[in-house]
Amino acid sequence: MKEAKYIWKDGELVPWKEATIHILSHTLHYGNAAFEGVRAYMTEKGLAIFRLNDHTKRLLNSTKIVAIDCPYSEDELNLAQIELLKSNDFQNNVYIRPLVYLGYGAMGVSHKQAPVNVAIAAWEWGAYLGEDGIINGIKVKTSSFTRNSIKSTMGKAKIAANYLNSQMAKHEALNCGCEEALLLDDSGFIAEGSGECFFIVRDGVLITPPYDNSLESITQETVIEIAKDLNIPVVQRRITRDEVYIAQEAFFTGTAAEITPVRELDFRVIGSGKAGHITQKLQKEFFDLVMGKNQKYTHYLTYIK
Ligand code: PMP
Repeated sequence: MKEAKYIWKDGELVPWKEATIHILSHTLHYGNAAFEGVRAYMTEKGLAIFRLNDHTKRLLNSTKIVAIDCPYSEDELNLAQIELLKSNDFQNNVYIRPLVYLGYGAMGVSHKQAPVNVAIAAWEWGAYLGEDGIINGIKVKTSSFTRNSIKSTMGKAKIAANYLNSQMAKHEALNCGCEEALLLDDSGFIAEGSGECFFIVRDGVLITPPYDNSLESITQETVIEIAKDLNIPVVQRRITRDEVYIAQEAFFTGTAAEITPVRELDFRVIGSGKAGHITQKLQKEFFDLVMGKNQKYTHYLTYIK
């Protein structure tokens, strides 16, 4: 990975290589940590963080869900991310990873006595599913892993432990020669990708699953907003895997994945096998928006001066 100069750690900027933790840090053993994935884009007016406030709000919601008292306020966390980007000499688009974790000082399953630490790292990062994936689409496999059940884990929280399931699904998909996994929910309907939300297009209508078995995705919400601007009808309802096979278009959305077309699911070609027309339209609008080229959405951008 491309290292940066500094990482923000518990209120201070520390050199990248010095941002380390003790081996008995509680999170490392039991998986309770809340995190975010945020992107900043190199616009004509410099770096701009996309929907910073919304990501920070979700981070604090995640900590609330998993009963961690974050020692920093929303404003402090926003400022910390801005400060971090200012202190590093980034030349390209950046991915920001805030992490609220349990540190060293208590062992055993109960996390009540464990200290809460906060770190924010940022580095230059290109397309998560590859530049080629953004243009030509990716191959996807329906996972043999069910998306974490809402009966046992808490999917509204972006917490480390939830990603074991995602990791196993991704591992399986890669071993099958695909680039990403699509996970079904308990009832067999499409839930989400290992780190993305999912859309299909049928007869000009954009369809995406309801929020009940997925993270409350900031990119999904943005794509729905953009689609409405473009007068593309949007429906939020359940989707089955065979419905995807016969859809004209399909794509993933996420902070890391941005808008990545799906060209195959389970070795069935979706539509033309390329990025579809509606997908391309939404991609163009999305990238214009995050690059500060759409005046209607400048309130979503926090410029780093
Ligand atoms: N689902 C999961 C499981 C994710 O990890 C992500 C990435 N944060 C998403 C959906 C998409 O969310 P967002 O658009 O807010 O990045």
